[in-house]
Amino acid sequence: MSAAEPTYPHECDPSTKSNVLRMQVTHIDIDWTVHFESSTIDGSVVLTARSVTEEVTALVLDVNHLNITKVTSVKTGNELAFSVDEPGALGSALTIPLTEDDRDTDTNSFGVQVFYNTTPKGSAVQWLAPSATKDKLAPFCFTQCQAIHARSLLPCQDTPTVKATYKANVRCPKGVVAIMSALGNGDEPIAVHSDGSSTFAFNQPIAMASYLVALAVGQLVSKPVGPRSAVWAEPSVVDAAAFEFVDTEKFIATGEQICGPYQWTRYDILCMPPSFPFGGMENPCLTFATPTLLAGDRSLANVIFHEVAHSWTGNLVTNRTWEHFWINEGWTMFVERKIGAALFGQKFADLDAIEGIAELQEDIDDFGAEHNFSRLIPNLAGDGDPDDAFSSVPYEKGFALLKHIEHVVGGPKNMDPFIRAYVVRVKPSNLLFLLLCSFSFYFASRLHCSWFIHVEQIRPPNNDDNV
Ligand SMILES: [Zn+2]
Repeated sequence: MSAAEPTYPHECDPSTKSNVLRMQVTHIDIDWTVHFESSTIDGSVVLTARSVTEEVTALVLDVNHLNITKVTSVKTGNELAFSVDEPGALGSALTIPLTEDDRDTDTNSFGVQVFYNTTPKGSAVQWLAPSATKDKLAPFCFTQCQAIHARSLLPCQDTPTVKATYKANVRCPKGVVAIMSALGNGDEPIAVHSDGSSTFAFNQPIAMASYLVALAVGQLVSKPVGPRSAVWAEPSVVDAAAFEFVDTEKFIATGEQICGPYQWTRYDILCMPPSFPFGGMENPCLTFATPTLLAGDRSLANVIFHEVAHSWTGNLVTNRTWEHFWINEGWTMFVERKIGAALFGQKFADLDAIEGIAELQEDIDDFGAEHNFSRLIPNLAGDGDPDDAFSSVPYEKGFALLKHIEHVVGGPKNMDPFIRAYVVRVKPSNLLFLLLCSFSFYFASRLHCSWFIHVEQIRPPNNDDNV
């Protein structure tokens, strides 16, 4: 390790230390081995990056509680010097100086291979002993990378400002299966080794943000619930999960009517062990869902509407920084409630929206109406963890903004074509597109600084007293 280039803090996203405005990672090849006995993952990542500026001096990556052992140049095979700065709330900057010798002139890109291991202090991976699982037969591990935890799973530009495709090989001990937020081969490994361990392979061909890299390893089985969907769960849970999520295809198809074709090929659901701390996480190809959704009567399916909606809003169209989290969550609430209205009627969606406004009021009361985190777009500068700002504000204030815009432009008949255009970036008509963009900017600018801070001034979804 040696001192090298200076770091480039907060180039555009206050939550990254990477030099994302100079170099951008476009693809990641992952090679991991999972070790339950030490609660670590070791291996390497090959990062392919393109230079954004003419002068290339270094690739700077985010890391947090990673033990970096070696870095090599893919082009030359030579070992590269690197440095890791002092850790802070955002982790550390891993700086890898580069020269023109490291450029692949055929692809005009730079490739570096980083050898490392995770450490138990990292926040991305949760390790469960067999006793903490439902069936108590095998250990289990799973990742949660949103918002800025991917940097404790792999060296990366841990910002939604950039998106990369990835491929992965994951080696696991005998008796467990690995699944990821990517296309795989089900429970079929590509290799079984002499010690009984197996290697599973994955490919994510759609470029996505680092927070969507996801891995789960455990004694898992799957059961199909639709033409492009299966549920994954521990053996004793899989039948109940298949019953609960049997309407998944209906949700995806309804989402397609609203947002356009589903692009991720597969939509599987992993029913997590009881300790999963969230309702759901929209990892591409593989939503992580809490087992508390297994009500036995499919009554909590709206969590799956939400995660399905993220397939377009969030996973395809992504907030550039965590200050603009409402672009992910406000839009997803908007689409989720359109899916709910299409399947169960407008009053179903309106009741959900009214509950959302009550939740928003509670959160703003807790923060204080003038608090930074009560704003639609909070200021996250100053090395703060974006998770500190997490609340219903980006969800429900973002939803209310979009609902208001829909009202102003004349209702769903004008707004719905814009949703598809927004997602697929195809203009249904130039005039409509420009008109709606103008409305968006006009209202966003007004709401950012004025009355939208106060929840009591948010208009309910409609004036139907019967709701
Ligand atoms: Zn969400």
